[in-house]
Amino acid sequence: MTSVQETAPTAGTVDVDAVVVGAGFSGLFELHRLRQLGMSVKGFEAGSDVGGTWYWNRYPGARSDSDSTVYSFSDLFDADLLPQWRWSERYPSQAEILRYLNWVADRKDLRRDISFGTRVTGAEFDAATHRWTITTDDGETVTARYFIPSVGVLSKPNLPSFPGLDSYGGQWFHTSRMPAEPLDYTGKRVAVIGNGATAVQIIPVVAHTAETVYEFSRNPYHCLPGRNHELDEEDWKTIESNHLEIFDHARQNFGGFPYAEGVEGASLSEQERRDALEAAWRKGGLAIAFSTFADVAVDKSVNDSALAFIREKIAGIVRDPQRADRLTPTSPFVGKRPPIEHGYYAAFNRDNVGLVDMKDNPIERISESGIVLADGTEYPVDIIIFATGFDAFTGALYEMNIRGADGRDLRERWEQGPSTYLGMAVPGFPNMLLHYCGPHNPAILTNGPTLIEQQGTWIGDFLARMNDAGHTYFDATSEAEAGFMDLHNQISDMTLIPGTASWWTGTNVDGKPTGLLSWAGGFPEYRRVCDEAAADYAGFQFA
Ligand code: FAD
Ligand code: NAP
Repeated sequence: MTSVQETAPTAGTVDVDAVVVGAGFSGLFELHRLRQLGMSVKGFEAGSDVGGTWYWNRYPGARSDSDSTVYSFSDLFDADLLPQWRWSERYPSQAEILRYLNWVADRKDLRRDISFGTRVTGAEFDAATHRWTITTDDGETVTARYFIPSVGVLSKPNLPSFPGLDSYGGQWFHTSRMPAEPLDYTGKRVAVIGNGATAVQIIPVVAHTAETVYEFSRNPYHCLPGRNHELDEEDWKTIESNHLEIFDHARQNFGGFPYAEGVEGASLSEQERRDALEAAWRKGGLAIAFSTFADVAVDKSVNDSALAFIREKIAGIVRDPQRADRLTPTSPFVGKRPPIEHGYYAAFNRDNVGLVDMKDNPIERISESGIVLADGTEYPVDIIIFATGFDAFTGALYEMNIRGADGRDLRERWEQGPSTYLGMAVPGFPNMLLHYCGPHNPAILTNGPTLIEQQGTWIGDFLARMNDAGHTYFDATSEAEAGFMDLHNQISDMTLIPGTASWWTGTNVDGKPTGLLSWAGGFPEYRRVCDEAAADYAGFQFA
């Protein structure tokens, strides 16, 4: 492929075929793929190195909820690299995943095209030249034929404003902005605000050394046992003899995991449902969500069976019935992402772990020495960890101030809520494809790398076709967008998910339009829709 550079280079401006923003799993995949196609690529990353999620989230206990065998690049990225890496545990720790992504970047020499510590603050499409102009916070300007945001679904922290935080005398952190050097919690009183997947990992780890840990909880999640274990030589012999099949198996599964497909729970008796749930519970991990019942997210009675089962399990672990009750979710199972727990429920049997119910008694303010609830109760603490999640999907995209063909800001275009074609393209924003960070892709329910590789490959194939045909411009059509959104909405409406408040539906950020931000029809169906679209690319206009 020839490099397309029709604009006369401006002094101080670099001109490339593609700009990729972000250097996590998606950005690294995209950079590598586009290079393989012979394109000149420039990457930008706000962090000082590669890793994305695993560079930023260094809170105690951080590890993957995905099985390590599939939480990595497959042969779709590079068949030679795959057998050269062995994970040490069933669920890799943050540090190990960061080592892995650094290793990938080294082996493929990816860093040389990335500006680190550089945040993209502007992206504007020029309808005359069919090129994007990308600007950064350190004054760099690059023009590119293609603009590929790979900024992650969960990269913009959500830190609700708590009055008085400025006056707090202790240390405080958002979980995705904790220091690289682990803190010493020995003898400290620690407050963790929130009870999502992040808090669920933090509590049992900090409880081991802290004097006291308070979990400030509102709406509990459905936590599933991890049953983590080391992977030894024997395990790896088995994995390596089947590794390609394991990845392929994952691509056939609803959630992109190498699990068997679920059966129709509605066709089973209550006892049969319980047996199936018990078997999955013993194995641990996300199988209970993605492989037990195919209809758990759409059939209320099946969902109720899962809820009742989880309620009993919590009551069997947490000795204080009042606490067990407070930790038991009432929202539908899989309406929010079930966290994988490694001793979370058991931690509430410890004397130094407190459970603070802030559902009807919210945080009123942060005082100089701790947290004050609406009823006036004060919890003096030395460290506050805000595990309050992220401004998902749109947060990081809006921070780039993306302006499309008519100069319209993406934020304005999506004022009533996001709308996309295939979760990757937005009409009016030509030559831009959102990699994994686009609303309406199946990110919330899919193992990350499975989806990242599928979309990254799709994007690479699409751009190769563009260039082979000599096109310099593409834009998704409004008809294609409307058709895709109808399908997305039909599928969402069939499920129990949209009624549940969480980052999946945008309710966690004040003023954010609400609606299911992610495709709920499963990875295989999403891939089928993308493949169908690629048969003739009729959903796009070209020039
Ligand atoms: P990210 O890893 O989020 O990387 C995006 C990068 O873009 C960031 O480094 C960010 O700094 C950069 N960026 C954003 N905006 C700009 C800008 N304007 N300019 C420059 N750079 C910018 N998924 C799973 O499947 N399994 C798991 O077990 C799992 N665990 C997770 C645990 C945590 C704590 C979190 C937060 C998410 C987890 N996820 C998990 C989802 C995870 O984000 C994906 O699996 C995957 O890592 C996403 O990779 P990415 O490259 O698309 O995005
Ligand atoms: P989250 O699931 O959005 O949870 C945020 C928590 O903060 C919730 O308990 C929420 O309460 C609470 N909260 C938010 N605003 C609040 C406020 N103003 N006052 C009091 N409480 C408030 O965030 P997360 O735990 O960081 O997880 C986000 C996602 O990251 C996960 O769903 C998962 O996809 C990913 N993740 C994955 C892993 C893993 O796989 N290993 C680990 C961590 C995170 P309410 O629910 O009541 O609003």
